[in-house]
Amino acid sequence: MSGWETVIGLETHVQLRTRSKMFCGCATAFGASPNTQVCPVCLGLPGALPVPNGEAMKLAVRAALALGCTVHSKSVFARKNYFYPDLPKGYQISQHDEPLATQGSLSFLSPERGLVTASILRLHVEEDAGKSLHDRFPKVTAVDLNRSGVPLIEIVGGPDLRSPAEARAYLLTLKQVLEYTGISDCDMEKGSLRVDANVSVRPTGASELGTRAEVKNINSFAFVEKALTVERDRQIALRESGGTVVQQTMLYDSKDNMVRPQRSKEESHDYRYFPEPDLPPLVLTPEFVAEQQSALPELPAGKRERFVTQYGLTRDHAAVLTASRGVADYYEAVVRAGADARAAANWVMTEGLADANDHGDELRVPPAALAQIVALVKGGTLSHQAAKRVFGEVAARGGDPRTIAEALGLVQVADTTVVAGWVTDVLGAHAPEVGRYKNGETKLMAFFVGQVMRASKGKADPKLAQRVLEEKLAS
Ligand SMILES: [Zn+2]
Repeated sequence: MSGWETVIGLETHVQLRTRSKMFCGCATAFGASPNTQVCPVCLGLPGALPVPNGEAMKLAVRAALALGCTVHSKSVFARKNYFYPDLPKGYQISQHDEPLATQGSLSFLSPERGLVTASILRLHVEEDAGKSLHDRFPKVTAVDLNRSGVPLIEIVGGPDLRSPAEARAYLLTLKQVLEYTGISDCDMEKGSLRVDANVSVRPTGASELGTRAEVKNINSFAFVEKALTVERDRQIALRESGGTVVQQTMLYDSKDNMVRPQRSKEESHDYRYFPEPDLPPLVLTPEFVAEQQSALPELPAGKRERFVTQYGLTRDHAAVLTASRGVADYYEAVVRAGADARAAANWVMTEGLADANDHGDELRVPPAALAQIVALVKGGTLSHQAAKRVFGEVAARGGDPRTIAEALGLVQVADTTVVAGWVTDVLGAHAPEVGRYKNGETKLMAFFVGQVMRASKGKADPKLAQRVLEEKLAS
């Protein structure tokens, strides 16, 4: 918006993809009956002692490395104290003064500024709280502690984003990295990725940050841009009418598309952090960190660049094909099966993704079969149109593309004698057009090719038909 610059920083909570909780053996599976995945540790019963989940630590370190952070050889668990009904211990185990990792970055494509590198200030490990259910019983709040103790990382981004659209692009890129690396399923609807945003505005050109408000309760990717736009517009309207922005937490309400201040009673600013006495400092050996580094797959940005150089794709096409690891792997399998890289890219991006979109994201045509379809088109056996039908058949029922093409009568006739017969018939039936063509109206070639295709019921190889037509019309 003219006259004002928006400054946004995101704090993202991500559930690590582990089978058990952060400090006990309880399951983390989504959708279990309330309070069935609990034990003395995650219920906070007296005397129960936490034990860190090794798998969670591996995933957290991989996340930090994938985001270019410095992973510290020593970090410290801390108690974050606050009172809330869904927090039976009265504190959450988190990290505070000495987090697992700091000083990373994430490059993403901004819709306004091109490639932007946003800073990651810190990444730390913590456990989730339980869940208050306000809609299960009339007039009472129920508590489900299945989430209590689920392992999370919090990724704190710097104030480097300049618009709600940029915040969305950043978040989608972060999600892509976390999905690629298998760190999280990042399903916002299930609560495995949650985002809070610090938003402020300042006059364009100013260097000091304005007073920020925190926006919470953004529970779907679809709402990220909307919620931040509402908050930005609220702050600008406030400033333009001579008011001042108060530092406070705003809750987004997606039903009315508005933000409202959180009641001050719900706020708890003084967490009185102190080191967790039941857990020693977390010490990571260089070998452990190196192992996690080598366990990381190729990251999306690197894969995108490689697709451009190795397969001669445009950056846009490479971005589409690397958007998810599944699609990227599929595309490369098609190329490995012998398909021309650029033709394969077009098939995967159009027919492949359209079919997957209609069938639960499943890429139903096996890579070898798609490679064969691409080759049949390239070799002139199938027209592009016919190949699409074969693709549809293979997707729905499986089978060998060439056999299917033959069974459906789709194989193009590339036999010169046969095609020449059709050409003779067509030229004989259109004497006036032949005369006009010979008098220089060469654009009639398209008409003749069309007539040959019609006479052959679509089976003639159009390139061959044109060649034979040119020969006969020249004589
Ligand atoms: Zn437990």
